[in-house]
Amino acid sequence: MTRAFYIGRFQPYHFGHHAVIMRIAEEVDELVIGIGSAQKSHEDTDPFTAGERVLMVYNALEHLPIRHYVLPIEDVRYNSIWVHHVASRTPRFDVVYSNNPLVIQLFREAGFSVKESPLYVRERYSGTEIRRRMIEGKKWEHLVPKPVVDVIKDCDGVERLRNVSANESNFSL
Ligand code: NAD
Repeated sequence: MTRAFYIGRFQPYHFGHHAVIMRIAEEVDELVIGIGSAQKSHEDTDPFTAGERVLMVYNALEHLPIRHYVLPIEDVRYNSIWVHHVASRTPRFDVVYSNNPLVIQLFREAGFSVKESPLYVRERYSGTEIRRRMIEGKKWEHLVPKPVVDVIKDCDGVERLRNVSANESNFSL
């Protein structure tokens, strides 16, 4: 039995993340998905709460054919202890999938097997690009699974993102 770990901030969860998870599901028996920076919300780079992101991922993966867990994980101040922090909040896992250089380095240094996940049409499927589109009033709904659109609409997420990004601009003046 192989259990994998995959972490992202998922601000928001999009079809790039989704493609990676579908691929991972073909290779392992179980998957632990970490909702990273769980303490963050209401910021221009991190508008959605951990709870909203859990719903996005969980609902989008309703038909994933393997057992999976979606768990919020707060950041810690020290990178050197982050892997132990993650391990203390998750079921034991055998392999990590990531494309984030820091995540890859920290897990490799801690002795984990890490597989680098390929990027899927990165210029289109990127949280930064989707948030920019939301702020500018452009179409973004086609870049995320339908259940993610529903979660964002339910929490007035676009309105929230516009408000917090306007406030952040004011602070930097
Ligand atoms: P993210 O949501 O930006 O990305 C998640 C994963 O999806 C990454 O591997 C990324 O490369 C991949 N991805 C993005 N677009 C893709 C696409 N189009 N196709 C395929 N894959 C794509 O999240 P992230 O910022 O990488 O998440 C890492 C989390 O780990 C953060 O929350 C970070 O704070 C946390 N972390 C915390 C510490 C600490 O607390 N000290 C240390 C390291 C990492």
